[in-house]
Amino acid sequence: MIIVLMGAPGAGKGTQADMLTDQVGYRKISTGDALRKHVKLGTPVGKQAADIMARGELVPDNVLLDVLREEIGSNPKEVVVLDGYPRNLTQAETLRQVVEGVHPVRGCVHLDVDRSAIVERLSGRRVCSSCGTSFHVSANPPKKDGVCDKCGASLYQRPDDDAKSISVRLDVYDRSTEPVLDYYRQRGLYCKVNGAGVTDEIFRELRDAISTCLN
Ligand code: AMP
Repeated sequence: MIIVLMGAPGAGKGTQADMLTDQVGYRKISTGDALRKHVKLGTPVGKQAADIMARGELVPDNVLLDVLREEIGSNPKEVVVLDGYPRNLTQAETLRQVVEGVHPVRGCVHLDVDRSAIVERLSGRRVCSSCGTSFHVSANPPKKDGVCDKCGASLYQRPDDDAKSISVRLDVYDRSTEPVLDYYRQRGLYCKVNGAGVTDEIFRELRDAISTCLN
């Protein structure tokens, strides 16, 4: 069963999906994380994606299809939270076809956050180079500057978290990704959760919304 977690870049999808994994046992698939792994390993997919990602644009759909197939698995019993896919209408249709029969999409949960808060979140974000945990320089700083609380590895700023790429990513979101919300709304699968405020409260609301989708 698939839950599609939607929201603009910086809405907190990654953090919330990690909490759903740790606290509820759902499996998270993040296409952004998968692509960053390819870039780090220097695979052909990584070589194709690196510059596009740094600019904040979308990696071609055919590459994402390979990534999706690699990650999705075929266990119909598990609940998979998809973070970062689909990002346009073509991908939404592809997802429907790829998972048909094995992993029905049971809901699309939209983490809704104001644009001004998003820019502030993205520009202050720092990510662990090893385990991928996200911090924020002021809202959620690590205990030791530049060091991950969870695994002790160094933190870095994603190359696409600079002002120019943030603006491109938000544009791409408005143009290509937002129509996907309507795609799921029309199929009766859409629900919205307020993504502003305290992380634990957002998590409770999100967890409840997902339970409703799964029942
Ligand atoms: P994220 O970590 O979800 O913010 O993704 C980081 C970057 O990876 C995006 O800005 C895109 O360049 C690329 N990416 C991730 N998921 C997709 C997708 N579904 N389609 C196209 N590009 C993607």
